[in-house]
Amino acid sequence: MKIAKEYSFGGRYDIVVCGGGPSGVAAAVSAARKGAKTLLIEQGGCLGGFWTRGLLTWLIDTFGKGALMDEVMERLEKEADGKRFPNKSRFTADTEKTKLVFERMCLESGVDFLYHTFVSGAVTDKRLVRSVLTESKSGPCYYDATVFIDATGDGDLGFLCGASYEIGNEEGATQPMSLIAHVDGVTICGTAYDSRYAPGKEAKAKLLEDIARAGLVPSYRYPHLAVLSEKYNSIGFMVDHEYGSGLSVKDVTEGTVRAREEIQKIVDGLRDQGGVWKDLRVTATADMIGVREGRRIKGLYRITADDVSRGQMFDDRICTVTFNTDVHALSPEKGKAFESRYGTKHPPYQIPLRSLISTDFDNLMMAGRCISGDFVAHASYRVGGPAFRTGDAAGGCAALCIEKGILPPEAVGTAGML
Ligand SMILES: Cc1cc2nc3c(=O)[nH]c(=O)nc-3n(C[C@H](O)[C@H](O)[C@H](O)COP(=O)(O)OP(=O)(O)OC[C@H]3O[C@@H](n4cnc5c(N)ncnc54)[C@H](O)[C@@H]3O)c2cc1C
Repeated sequence: MKIAKEYSFGGRYDIVVCGGGPSGVAAAVSAARKGAKTLLIEQGGCLGGFWTRGLLTWLIDTFGKGALMDEVMERLEKEADGKRFPNKSRFTADTEKTKLVFERMCLESGVDFLYHTFVSGAVTDKRLVRSVLTESKSGPCYYDATVFIDATGDGDLGFLCGASYEIGNEEGATQPMSLIAHVDGVTICGTAYDSRYAPGKEAKAKLLEDIARAGLVPSYRYPHLAVLSEKYNSIGFMVDHEYGSGLSVKDVTEGTVRAREEIQKIVDGLRDQGGVWKDLRVTATADMIGVREGRRIKGLYRITADDVSRGQMFDDRICTVTFNTDVHALSPEKGKAFESRYGTKHPPYQIPLRSLISTDFDNLMMAGRCISGDFVAHASYRVGGPAFRTGDAAGGCAALCIEKGILPPEAVGTAGML
């Protein structure tokens, strides 16, 4: 027996960031701007992860998330028709232009990035990660680095290294997945379906009523239309909940196929009613179904439900989270959209730098959805602003480690500088 193709050496970097979603982009830009030689590896064909590949770009809890988040919002305002919601920590932007802004920021900062490259393995040596292994059209490859950052959302790198992790709630149940679509042929700004700046309860109820009139019951009972750009009239549409594991390719494939059928059926059902819907059509479905929950890699600190409910502050804070706890229905029970048993409201709490540092590997950091926390805490910090800020802090910390010749656990005291 012989392995047909050997791994070739891709290069040596100070920092390798795996996953080009919002947290990965933030990590890579932050690290490169501080002088670190940085590689960002992404399996898709654009940067932005669920914000762009997932067609989201309707961001929550973005205020007070550091200078890089502010810079991104300013650039999205100028270059991607971005809009800040009045009196709210929310933000929208045009999805396609967001891809460009992220590419420009990486190019300007000197980040090397690779598309269509899947992180498929790792080489470790005791408590250190030595290399990541990748698969692509160019063949199997390995990249060495001093510090690695897992920004895959699902914690793929930590898993491939053999780091400990958690998934789901106490019974292992995870939040459902959802496929987002973009629709066209309808103007909702200024109508009863407008959910631009309001909580949108009435708009959502009205949409649900219309869907019911078509004889359909959406799998997500709180469906909504989200205006992403008024200028380009780009509108996001979320109507589905898909159950199964976001870490099972079979579940992800089946969920995507079901969701795409459901979206089309609902759009057809609405269009058949005429009126405001008469020209409604789907212009795109995401090429990445939204996985709300993947692995949470265990870190030097694990943020808990208690921390969230009492508004815990930390000396090594890197971010304050103000978003609610948001647990979507854990099973497809009739009429249910959310799990109220976990509570929703809590005071602002902080994310400590330690929750971004693996407990098993001294040069492995996490950013975005896969940082260390329990089920309930994750249901709050998983949204856009905190995900981006954890990336910014992880990249900054990794670069500081390169500069000082130390490893992330030794850098915990520098959190105030990040
Ligand atoms: C259905 C749904 C609705 C949401 N709604 C909102 C909302 O309204 N507002 C909000 O602010 N947040 C929302 N979120 C949360 C939002 O997804 C997160 O804020 C954010 O996308 C997390 O960023 P991330 O970088 O951790 O992960 P992701 O955005 O998931 O990015 C991970 C990136 O890593 C890449 N990747 C993964 N594995 C590999 C691998 N092995 N090799 C190479 N690349 C890899 C992926 O292709 C992707 O680009 C929602 C999430 C979901 C799923």
